[in-house]
Amino acid sequence: MTEEAGKLEQIRDITRIDRIGAHSHIRGLGLNDALEPRHTSQGMVGQVQARRAAGIILEMIKEGKIAGRAILIGGQPGTGKTAIAMGMSQSLGTDTPFTAISGSEIFSLEMSRTEALTQAFRKSIGVRIKEETEIIEGEVVEIQIDRPVSEGGAKVGKLTLKTTEMETIYDLGAKMIESLTKEKVQAGDIITIDKSSGRSTKLGRSYTRARDYDAMGPQTKYVHCPEGELQKRKEVVHTVSLHEIDVINSRTQGFLALFSGDTGEIKTEVRDQISIKIAEWREEGKADIVPGVLFIDEVHMLDIECFSFLNRALESDMAPILIMATNRGITKIRGTNYTSPHGIPIDLLDRLLIVSTVPYDEKEMHKILAIRCEEEDVEMNEEALAILTKIGGETSLRYAIQLITASALTCRKRKGAEVEIQDIKRVYALFLDESRSSQFLKEYQKDFMF
Ligand code: ATP
Repeated sequence: MTEEAGKLEQIRDITRIDRIGAHSHIRGLGLNDALEPRHTSQGMVGQVQARRAAGIILEMIKEGKIAGRAILIGGQPGTGKTAIAMGMSQSLGTDTPFTAISGSEIFSLEMSRTEALTQAFRKSIGVRIKEETEIIEGEVVEIQIDRPVSEGGAKVGKLTLKTTEMETIYDLGAKMIESLTKEKVQAGDIITIDKSSGRSTKLGRSYTRARDYDAMGPQTKYVHCPEGELQKRKEVVHTVSLHEIDVINSRTQGFLALFSGDTGEIKTEVRDQISIKIAEWREEGKADIVPGVLFIDEVHMLDIECFSFLNRALESDMAPILIMATNRGITKIRGTNYTSPHGIPIDLLDRLLIVSTVPYDEKEMHKILAIRCEEEDVEMNEEALAILTKIGGETSLRYAIQLITASALTCRKRKGAEVEIQDIKRVYALFLDESRSSQFLKEYQKDFMF
């Protein structure tokens, strides 16, 4: 890798961290059971229409009715497009992979655009791998019953056994029966035992031996469970992304490439082999696919080749949920001379569920800023927050959010207890927002290099 590419990679990693930070207060879409947005909930404020639409899309995703489609969030900068995508991913579950990239990132130096997109897609597909391991003394184990375990009236239900010390097979069996008489257990239910003797395959025998155990109760005349019907099974589940599996299998340096980010291009044959292996694992019940969320911001930056790729990729049965965002209206499709809404080709637009976001009013902006202060552990008094809200309205929400940490630092420097108007004033003067920066450039243009 060239030095330049190395730097680019570093910068990219930094933006990734920054993005996570900027939305760390978002914990979901903040909807109630009827999928109606609560005005402020799970870190989300306002943007009610878009969140309502996103909630319906979530339902479609959960019911598996989203295949082949994607979502486009259109709206002005800083109106929460990324925040909504993040909220959707969080509502899908904590191990749902979420990848955020920007359209312009795809035009990287060291790999083709389609390779970069393929990697982004595969980063957004989780593989939940189930592994069976040996039971070690002192561990929590699960024992699956694959046939009815009772005869003669001990009717059955879910069973959880907790043993605190090393016990004999006989004691464990007796405890099971004790629980059997109290709760209903059916074939296929899982019994959890905190501690196992390590000889737990023989637990079946202990059932029979324990049949005359007092605690069985009068109605449990006989519990039939020959050896072998209780299977020793301890499942460990890991979720990794398909991309991580690709990297580990494609490079001699293996997983270390995941940390360095130096993954390079991955051969199609490697991916094909992995896809075959995963299909086998799925069939054998060893793995599940967890479709994650791929968020592509500034989607108008993609060109026609990328759009064709997206069209094709959406057809795959493993495709993640694709959410795109743009703040452009009718504009040129990159790589062509045609214009179209959002710079997206009509055939792709046709597959999209389009959601739009609207600018925030003062109250909403105030609330978002207050949430961000809390998130960043910044004490700010009400007057300062009101001024910051005003600044946000006149510049942008993003700019106002940036000033929170900066003003907290100036407050700390003057040994203040909470951010006051003077701190906001100071950082407002120190850091230019976009329009003042443009103004400055216009005024001093002649002094800059061309
Ligand atoms: P751009 O077009 O520039 O990519 P965007 O529409 O994606 O902008 P975000 O990055 O989501 O905007 O929003 C800017 C900041 O405001 C982020 O920190 C985001 O988490 C926060 N934010 C935006 N909307 C909301 C909201 N409705 N509730 C809570 N926080 C929000």
